[in-house]
Amino acid sequence: MATKRKVKFIFITGGVVSSLGKGITSSSLGLLLKQRGLKVTIMKFDPYINIDPGTMNPYQHGEVYVTDDGSETDLDLGHYERFLNISMTKLNNTTTGQIYNTVITNERKGEYLGATVQVIPHITDEIKRRIELLKESDNYDVIIIEIGGTVGDIESLPFLEAMRQFMHKVGRTNAINIHLTLVPFIKSSGELKTKPTQHSVKTLLEIGIQPDILVCRSERRLTKDLKDKIALFCNVEPSSVIEGRDVDTIYSVPLAYEKEKLDEIVISKLNLKCNPLNLEKWKHFVKRVVAPKYKIKIGLCGKYIELADAYKSITEAFIHSGAENNTKVEIKWIAAEDIEKDGPEPYLKDISGLLVAPGFGSRGIEGKISAIKYVRENKIPFFGICLGLQCAVIEFARNVCGIKNANSTEFNEKTKQNVIDLMLEQKKVKDKGGTMRLGAYPCNIQKGTLAYTAYKKELIYERHRHRYEVNNKYKSQLAKHGMVFSGICPANDLVEIIELNNHPFFIASQFHPELKSRATIAHPLFREFIKASLSYSNKKKMTEEL
Ligand code: GLN
Repeated sequence: MATKRKVKFIFITGGVVSSLGKGITSSSLGLLLKQRGLKVTIMKFDPYINIDPGTMNPYQHGEVYVTDDGSETDLDLGHYERFLNISMTKLNNTTTGQIYNTVITNERKGEYLGATVQVIPHITDEIKRRIELLKESDNYDVIIIEIGGTVGDIESLPFLEAMRQFMHKVGRTNAINIHLTLVPFIKSSGELKTKPTQHSVKTLLEIGIQPDILVCRSERRLTKDLKDKIALFCNVEPSSVIEGRDVDTIYSVPLAYEKEKLDEIVISKLNLKCNPLNLEKWKHFVKRVVAPKYKIKIGLCGKYIELADAYKSITEAFIHSGAENNTKVEIKWIAAEDIEKDGPEPYLKDISGLLVAPGFGSRGIEGKISAIKYVRENKIPFFGICLGLQCAVIEFARNVCGIKNANSTEFNEKTKQNVIDLMLEQKKVKDKGGTMRLGAYPCNIQKGTLAYTAYKKELIYERHRHRYEVNNKYKSQLAKHGMVFSGICPANDLVEIIELNNHPFFIASQFHPELKSRATIAHPLFREFIKASLSYSNKKKMTEEL
């Protein structure tokens, strides 16, 4: 057996305000270390009491990111996967809810032998055990641990205390803390201000943590004087004060950190043995993102259009597939309910492709269905995901097969023409959390189809998050009218991909391809959708040359 390597730990915390980009910083640093030949993974601690974000409203949480093993996780795990091109598991995301759930379950079993169960040591021990579990699961060189929330929040305290204990135990040559702060620019005085950073570091010091590196988010350049001042007040070396200036795309962040030598500082502090940095592929990708040749407009029809985070993986997959086609994908957000009011024409006439988004519940469904009818009849490229597939089947059943009242039992429980129905295994499910058909399942691809052109493989694995499915009773009727079932789950004969023959590009999947699109490897279905949309756009003379 190969000997276990010595694992090094990097804790990422944030102060002053939330949304400083701890997830992107963790991902970017992870990429820089991975591109030096190190085996890296990232873990996220979320301070909320929900067991997972699966039951949260998209307004609260944004997208729920599903991993291969079927865990419903924080959307930061999507960034980790996209940047590092690795797959995460349930071990990579832990919430306060999960920690307490385990501790309380243990207590009920009598495992604490009469002790008073407390935050320290029981909760903090459980937090540290989760880090150990990830460590033991593979042969990692580096584990980056992102602590959600902001230093000073009541909710984050147990995680920070566990981190303090952990760092003390493994020693500061094996574990470091990178603290993200904000250095705001005050317009009236024309200055960048360091005080919030000083206060944030003081809060960390109060709980016994001296940061090793400060990443200072700022709109402006941090001068040497300013870096020296921050270093002096916060007991870090001036070279460990890193500028984290706003950049044009999140994918440029690793390049900005490389310039600031963040990776080199980490390597020297942790005494890591590694190769020279190789970012060639990444740089090529970023160049295509920043300066592509063409621009096209794609419609994204959903119900949370004012909330880009709800469709995070989809918008990122457009960036990856755009880059592969040397094209900037401009997203036109289309509220399904607007189409119900005004009809599809005003919203869809200037787009070169339409994606109908995943979703739950009946709001906006009829709008989505009439949008799909419009693009089917007008031969505009179409790509449906999950609910998007279900709407496409309903539309086709109603308007092509003459099944006039075709519907899903999700929207009309009593419908007799249930072309979409609750899956058999879902009928007995009562609990809401973690009970959908979740995670990766195999899918057989039929040769000679659009799906096969995209994947060039007969067996694929894709991730799922749904309760409803195409009703197999209607398959032959749908097929007779030209619907092709090009992807089928072999285990239970469920429809995974549908497409239409007499259309330049009409495809939909029951699974979520967006969850497996990676920065430098666009998902095949997205890549083909953008390719088809670009050629439609060229034909209609709608492509902009940049
Ligand atoms: N609401 C649908 C279902 O549960 C679709 C889910 C989705 O789009 N993720 O089957």
